[in-house]
Amino acid sequence: MLPPDIDGRKAELERLAPADLLAWAAGRFPGNVVCLAALGAEDCVLIDVIARQGLAIPIVTIDTAVLFRETYALWSRLEKRYGISIGGIRSELIPETGPTVPDLDRLWEREPDRCCQLRKIVPLRRELGTRQAWVTGIRREQSETRRYAKQVEWDLAFGLVKLNPLAAWTGDEMWSYIRANDVPYNPLHDAGYPSIGCEPCTSVVGGGDSERSGRWRGNEKTECGLHVAPAPLFPGK
Ligand code: SF4
Repeated sequence: MLPPDIDGRKAELERLAPADLLAWAAGRFPGNVVCLAALGAEDCVLIDVIARQGLAIPIVTIDTAVLFRETYALWSRLEKRYGISIGGIRSELIPETGPTVPDLDRLWEREPDRCCQLRKIVPLRRELGTRQAWVTGIRREQSETRRYAKQVEWDLAFGLVKLNPLAAWTGDEMWSYIRANDVPYNPLHDAGYPSIGCEPCTSVVGGGDSERSGRWRGNEKTECGLHVAPAPLFPGK
């Protein structure tokens, strides 16, 4: 449940621009808010906004060890460009060097839900367990499961406040911001990948298909479990 002071300001917070919402979050949760950047285009916008304002919001990404090499390169570019450190959170089952433990080896082919659980959810839960709020780059337009995302909501799955400063943004607004501010982004976006996750589970999207249709193609899975869909404001609509 949202803390009473936030619950009472929900409507006002919902109208704040991303930069203002992030500045508010840094002040409301000093030392207790983190930005999870999956290094997609949305996350690059958030990093730009946080860095430009010099906000005390640490940025982390989940290193599943099977990201695209372009994503690892972008991680370094963002750190250099903004003079920041983006922390990598990683499953204890994935050693820094050497082969992956046999249980995880190509697990995405056999049990993708379990693979996401072990590579993403468990390490994220560990990170969020030390926080009161987290920031994500999800947008309502991205998929049906994100359609009801609010700028400020209670995250039932992880038990803390969830902030989605770009929830209302369209893809056009996001790309306009990126171009106007020369924000670094993953070159795979220009090669037919609107949504980029782990390399084994991400494919090119054809014209007319939804943004996230290249994720887990051929599988009913549409989310890795980080973002549990909130209830609609008006059920049935
Ligand atoms: Fe595993 Fe694929 Fe999930 Fe990455 S996206 S954690 S490879 S199932």
